[in-house]
Amino acid sequence: MRFSRAFIPTLKEKPAEAEIPSHTLMIRSGMLRKLGSGIYSYLPLAKKVINHIETIVREELDAIGCQEILMPVLHPRELWEMSGRWAVYGPELMRLTDRHDREFALGPTHEEVITLIAKYDIKSYKKLPINLYQIQTKFRDEIRPRFGVMRSREFIMKDAYSFHKDKKSLQKTYEDMYNAYSRIFARCGLKSVAVEADVGAIGGSSSHEFMVLAETGESEVLHCECGYAATSENAKITALDCNEHDEMIKLEKVYTPERKSVEEVSAFLGVLPKKLIKTIVYKADDNFVAILIRGDREINPVKVANFLQCVNLEFATEDEIAEFTHSTAGFVGPVGKKSIKLYADLNLKFMRNMVTGADEKDHHYKNVHLERDAHIDAWQDFIQAEKGDKCPKCGKAMSSFRGIEVGQVFQLGDKYSTAMEATYDAEDGSAIPYQMGCYGIGITRTMAASIEQFHDKDGIIWPISISPYDVELINLSPSDEDITEFCDNVYELLQDEFIDVLYDDRDEKAGFKFKDADLIGIPIHIIVGKKSFEQEMVEIKIRKTGEKITCAFDDILNRITMLIDKMYDEINKNVT
Ligand code: ATP
Ligand code: MG
Repeated sequence: MRFSRAFIPTLKEKPAEAEIPSHTLMIRSGMLRKLGSGIYSYLPLAKKVINHIETIVREELDAIGCQEILMPVLHPRELWEMSGRWAVYGPELMRLTDRHDREFALGPTHEEVITLIAKYDIKSYKKLPINLYQIQTKFRDEIRPRFGVMRSREFIMKDAYSFHKDKKSLQKTYEDMYNAYSRIFARCGLKSVAVEADVGAIGGSSSHEFMVLAETGESEVLHCECGYAATSENAKITALDCNEHDEMIKLEKVYTPERKSVEEVSAFLGVLPKKLIKTIVYKADDNFVAILIRGDREINPVKVANFLQCVNLEFATEDEIAEFTHSTAGFVGPVGKKSIKLYADLNLKFMRNMVTGADEKDHHYKNVHLERDAHIDAWQDFIQAEKGDKCPKCGKAMSSFRGIEVGQVFQLGDKYSTAMEATYDAEDGSAIPYQMGCYGIGITRTMAASIEQFHDKDGIIWPISISPYDVELINLSPSDEDITEFCDNVYELLQDEFIDVLYDDRDEKAGFKFKDADLIGIPIHIIVGKKSFEQEMVEIKIRKTGEKITCAFDDILNRITMLIDKMYDEINKNVT
């Protein structure tokens, strides 16, 4: 493609709303344009990257016998009522009404549609297992669309669904998909790891998320030398240090004027934050509940929502706290009889002589022992795992890194098949609900994640396997006929060898072209300037390292082919 004819509207300035490098660079390199909050157009460079990622996904899935289909975006309400998710999916589901007042959802995921297909058309055990996938635009009304296509409201996803006779067959396909995912991300040139994950709104029993390592990632992953890795949302907590052998002291109410937060109360009373109990009041759908955790730890809302089996979990407001707990925000506590349910983190069970709110303005209790002084409705793991916590597998201290979730695989079991009465006919004639798996990859998020992983101050650095072009050919003297004729020939020569070239033939200054080339991030640049041309040489620049190689005219094709092969070798050595 000649740059002069290409639609690549690069920008000099950083867009004001962009918070992370991938968002900034995708806008600046002319890949992306915003239409509304979380809604983007993919311009030619982005579309080429998307196509490359999709090709890798298709090749790997086709290789394990997964077949491509395409399902509707528009889902009738009745379908989502069959699974029960019309009511529980919550505000993230985009809903609309047609001219006959019939309600629909724009598909955020397709378990319902595919289960219905299976219900009618995959009846015999002889047809199982079967694994189907599609690549399609998904809609989710994210509460906080941000970071460009990283978390948008309309995005491209590859989603696959498998149907099985039994758990053993599901496990086998799950492993095949897990391995295919590892290969897909490695072939995209990305460093990724698979971690144990929460099943979230999709449900089921077992799940792994594929994380691309990046500082700006929204997920925190805890991992251990022994190989254990889980998102901090999902990592199980092993017992924290506990003072269960301390002498139990009598409950005492103390005056704590204007001291509400953990920091204020612990400083005022001269006790460590870990000796405090935070009482957090939530509105869980329409119920108010209080969750108790240790003062030095953060609550994990995913664990709370899973435990309560609720769709919407919000902090109660000060007015709601006053109305439903008859207490005062900042001084809520667990001691005595309560009007709402109290659920406490397991770690608090044996802790003695703790500090809690006293349900009275400016007062706290000292020496609280929950088992003695409160009525706890249930004990549960509610806290967020942190770096330094003990590994649930081997007990060593875990470390942490940040990551971007690019894909997730789930063993759904019979959750959807049972809800939708989707069964197959077994060998003995009985009707049995399918075992199901589902598997997603965010195609557009993967594109952004790659930039997050590979960029520098000047721009993007594409891995060759997903780069919009293999080579950028830069003519520094487009007004010089000889040089231009030479560049035109190199352009043709490379294209004849199926090397995809962006040819910067624009009548612009050298510095301007170099800036654009670095910004766009094609892995290999061929630079043709007057000086080198006179010596029958060109300069080849490797975008990633900045390394420059001088190359004789007649060696160009050979050199470029070798460089491309080498880049693919680098990538392929991580594909297992
Ligand atoms: P998240 O936890 O980031 O909201 P999710 O777990 O809800 O994502 P899945 O249902 O597992 O997402 O969807 C499969 C894949 O689709 C994700 O791994 C991610 O790559 C991609 N994805 C999900 N939501 C978005 C979004 N809002 N924008 C872009 N990609 C998304
Ligand atoms: Mg997910």
